[in-house]
Amino acid sequence: MTYLDPHGINADLHSHSTRSDGVLTPEALVERALANGVELLALTDHDEVSGLQAARRRAQELGLRFICGVEISVTFAHKTVHIVGLNIDANNQVLLESLTAIRTGRTRRAQVMAQGLAEYLNKNTRASSALAAFQGHLSDEQLAEVIYAGALQYAGNPDLISRTHFARYLVECKLCKHLSDVFLHYLTPDKPGYVETSWASLTEAVSWIRQAGGQAVIAHPGRYRFSETEKIALYETFKELGGEAIEVITASHTREQYSDFVRIAKHFDFLASRGSDFHGPYESRVDLGEVGLLPLLPDSVIPIWHNW
Ligand code: AMP
Ligand code: MN
Ligand code: MN
Ligand code: MN
Repeated sequence: MTYLDPHGINADLHSHSTRSDGVLTPEALVERALANGVELLALTDHDEVSGLQAARRRAQELGLRFICGVEISVTFAHKTVHIVGLNIDANNQVLLESLTAIRTGRTRRAQVMAQGLAEYLNKNTRASSALAAFQGHLSDEQLAEVIYAGALQYAGNPDLISRTHFARYLVECKLCKHLSDVFLHYLTPDKPGYVETSWASLTEAVSWIRQAGGQAVIAHPGRYRFSETEKIALYETFKELGGEAIEVITASHTREQYSDFVRIAKHFDFLASRGSDFHGPYESRVDLGEVGLLPLLPDSVIPIWHNW
């Protein structure tokens, strides 16, 4: 690294491709990052590393520094937490086998989601009129199949069907105008398409990342609805397990949260990361490495890439 001040680097260390719930292929993602002025990029697909080889190859061709990453779904204190792994060996057997195991549950989960949505929509006239195209008086089971197949069409990787794919399909059906509305009304706890899922434990996720030679980062810490006690338990447990960093600058944080997480990083002696969590050009409010909306890391924290 020839930079004198690592804080000045436009690093984007959190992004998604069609291998999970992003809309760009790994290659197109790399091209867009370069065009946007990103100097250090990580692809961090959910529970999946199969896009890394293509992304790394394209980044090499274009001369962009590329980091292999992953975003692992974790259940901590009965809620979902995302742990990003950076600088992982994408061929590590433990990591590959463990990720395959967490992905396996997604297909069954998606079928149950489709069933919950179908039952609700068949009962609710206003909502189901939005799905008029299928209203040849479908049974719950038939409608569930239609919804499942519709969501699957949006999944570039059939092994990784996520709530995002359902949300895209339901927007296409005009059930809601925006993805966030579908999440709010249909895909979050206590809503008809929400299915309680048991992901990896925090211990497992951090250990897989470390066994693959990577560094573990708590993704978008401002998004978790934990009590203060649970938050502290998350940071302390993560630290004890060998977790190293938190995302300070990420698209879902407010300006106040940037300062909050600078304080948390200092208090727990965490390195700091920065990433857009980009999913797609027309979907994500913040584009890859978009400095105007995603500030560079402040001087008061140590960037996770300081010694890369
Ligand atoms: P899953 O892993 O299937 O539970 O899906 C989680 C994904 O849904 C996240 O990675 C986000 O991409 C997306 N997501 C979650 N909440 C929202 C929201 N309110 N609006 C838009 N996308 C969301
Ligand atoms: Mn996502
Ligand atoms: Mn996430
Ligand atoms: Mn993400």
